[in-house]
Amino acid sequence: MESYRCMNHPEKMAVAQCTRCGKPVCDECYNPETGRCRIRCGEMTAPGSAGAPPHKNVVMNVIVSILAILGGLLVLLLAICGTILFSN
Ligand SMILES: [Zn+2]
Ligand SMILES: [Zn+2]
Repeated sequence: MESYRCMNHPEKMAVAQCTRCGKPVCDECYNPETGRCRIRCGEMTAPGSAGAPPHKNVVMNVIVSILAILGGLLVLLLAICGTILFSN
């Protein structure tokens, strides 16, 4: 049975798994504070980064998508109503 090896150091044994990307990492690459790998997922959670958290952006995207769908449905509804009115 082959044991896990660090994704960045194939010669090193992995001591943990990144909680974000799930890749095995050695003690050098693993950040116990975040539970993530330093190289791939550590940078994205750098403290002090300005701007809104990414969660807010996702919510905004969902709201915009819903509004776009509602707008499209409204136009479609108006078109159907217009067709019905004209056919009568
Ligand atoms: Zn990772
Ligand atoms: Zn490593």
